[in-house]
Amino acid sequence: MRLILLGAPGAGKGTQAEMLMNAYNIPTISTGNIFREHIANKTDLGQKAKGYMDQGQLVPDELVIELVKDRVKKDDCKNGMIFDGFPRTIPQAKALDIMLDELGMPIEHVVNVDVQDEIIVERISGRRTCLACGETYHKIYKVELKDGLCNKCNTELTHRDDDKLETVKKRLEVYHSQTKPLINYYQEQDKLINIDGLGKVDEVYAKITKALEVN
Ligand code: AMP
Repeated sequence: MRLILLGAPGAGKGTQAEMLMNAYNIPTISTGNIFREHIANKTDLGQKAKGYMDQGQLVPDELVIELVKDRVKKDDCKNGMIFDGFPRTIPQAKALDIMLDELGMPIEHVVNVDVQDEIIVERISGRRTCLACGETYHKIYKVELKDGLCNKCNTELTHRDDDKLETVKKRLEVYHSQTKPLINYYQEQDKLINIDGLGKVDEVYAKITKALEVN
């Protein structure tokens, strides 16, 4: 299965992607996580991306597209993949169509996880992230079992700089102007599945898997 999870930052794409990845046994390609790994490893790409990320801006298309081009050619994508946070602009979506067509494995489904802006702000400001493994937690919705530490790798959890209120507002603005047009783009390709992203993680997951079965 080749799937894109669309939605605003904080809509729950990352959490759902991880659950789907485990259920379908295919990798998740999260460009945000890849950039955070590069930042942690102090690579050139990481340094370039950080400036944009800290301001809630998108990293330029050329950088993101090159990264994904290399990633989708890897062997573990042969049986499918889940995109989380990519594409985020029309040029990225067009580039993805071309690269996957060349590999003979086009996108099959695009799940749009819909959540209102006010809820997004509440969710993101309570979110805590493990910068070592990418796992996310929430002060209210997904409490850390071991106080402040990641359950998976025991690393101290962080409040991402770009999850702070002012940056979240900027990221939402960017989402509305640059990413939301992708809903129409995929609707025209007849690939779009709209899911109400409100509710508990398991409920949203059940809605997504049911819709995928039907489609
Ligand atoms: P995320 O973890 O998906 O919310 O991404 C965090 C930040 O990484 C975004 O606010 C962007 O600055 C950058 N980023 C991640 N994915 C992309 C993308 N597909 N295009 C441009 N910038 C991205």
